[in-house]
This record gives sequence, structure tokens and C-alpha cells, in this order.
Amino acid sequence: MIVTVDVEKCTGHARCNAASPAVYTLDSDGYLAVRNYEVPAGQESLAREGAAACPERAISITE
Ligand code: SF4
Repeated sequence: MIVTVDVEKCTGHARCNAASPAVYTLDSDGYLAVRNYEVPAGQESLAREGAAACPERAISITE
């Protein structure tokens, strides 16, 4: 599973991180620090929860 972040859409709500801090790391300004991220085995549901929590729909998941 790959997580892809559209940096143009990310506005720093940090809801992805609140839902799944192990998957969605924030930078010092509160924006998502990852751009393309291979989700470790066992964290797939956390990745989906974090993506669903993003109000900007900035996170895409490729299975
Ligand atoms: S919830 Fe969405 S807009 Fe907010 S930091 Fe995460 S990816 Fe960016």
C-alpha cells in the first residue's frame, strides 16, 4: 500500500496525524511531512483512517 499526498491540497489541519500518528508524520509547521510513503505491513487500516480524516481529500491510497 502506498500513500500519496497532494501538497497543493494539504492545508495543515493535522487530522490525519491525530487519527494515525504512526503513519502520518507532520513537519514543524504542522503540514504532512510525507509525500509518497509505503505503509508498513499491519498499518493499512491506520493509513485508511488517516486518509478518511483529511477534510481536503489530500491523501490518496494505492492498494
Ligand atoms: S489532514 Fe489533510 S490537510 Fe491536514 S495535514 Fe493531513 S493531509 Fe494535510
